[in-house]
Amino acid sequence: MYNMEEKDLKISIAHLYPKLLNLYGDMGNIITLKKRCEWRGIKVEIEEIGVGDNIKEHDLYFIGGGQDKQQVDVAEELYKNKDFLQDERDKGAVFLGICGGYQLFGHYYQPFDADKLNGISLMDAYTVAGKKRFIGNVTVETDFLSPKTLVGFENHSGLTYLQGDTKPLGKIVVGNGNNGTDKSEGARYKNVFGTYLHGSLLPKNPHFADYLIELALEKRYGEKIALSKLDDSIEYMTHTSLTGKAY
Ligand code: GLN
Repeated sequence: MYNMEEKDLKISIAHLYPKLLNLYGDMGNIITLKKRCEWRGIKVEIEEIGVGDNIKEHDLYFIGGGQDKQQVDVAEELYKNKDFLQDERDKGAVFLGICGGYQLFGHYYQPFDADKLNGISLMDAYTVAGKKRFIGNVTVETDFLSPKTLVGFENHSGLTYLQGDTKPLGKIVVGNGNNGTDKSEGARYKNVFGTYLHGSLLPKNPHFADYLIELALEKRYGEKIALSKLDDSIEYMTHTSLTGKAY
């Protein structure tokens, strides 16, 4: 077992294109990861990646959601870094993509009335724009978190379909999720996670935030490192108040 104190640990995070993809406060996910590390004395380096920037090696990569228009600019940038980001995935780096960012983790996103956007194929999935916009609260049941639930809200017209070894993040309990028909929400392949849950997601799902931080620490230090417990009473009060809540 690792014999370093949490105060000796560090993780580096790349925040991908926050000036373009940061819909509905998705930046709250970065703030949550940062604070939950700092509250434990773990150092966090956060690098904002803008259009034209080189993407360097990090332990965790985060990308938020956005309108179709912003996705066009980001898709082009991400595609330039596709090989590097796939290598990072294969080295165990952690990725979290929300909605529009999640859609670009797949092979492509076909907007309603625009050219198909190439994704970076971090996961075996694709997205096509639907006629209906899914807006509302979402509750998901996972098989890898405790508590099992994730809560948030969705606002997307994209319909995402998973293939091959890419599995859902969980099963829809309330809401529409990936496509409103197969009861799946989000996706996971290796340490790449995508979800339609805005909110932002991590402040009211602290167990998922810590799960991602532990994966990022394992990638950096090559060993499983269990995080110390925090007082998450307020976070779980919020989580419980939203669990099962419809519109
Ligand atoms: N433009 C995409 C859609 O409508 C993603 C939206 C978002 O990120 N909330 O499906």
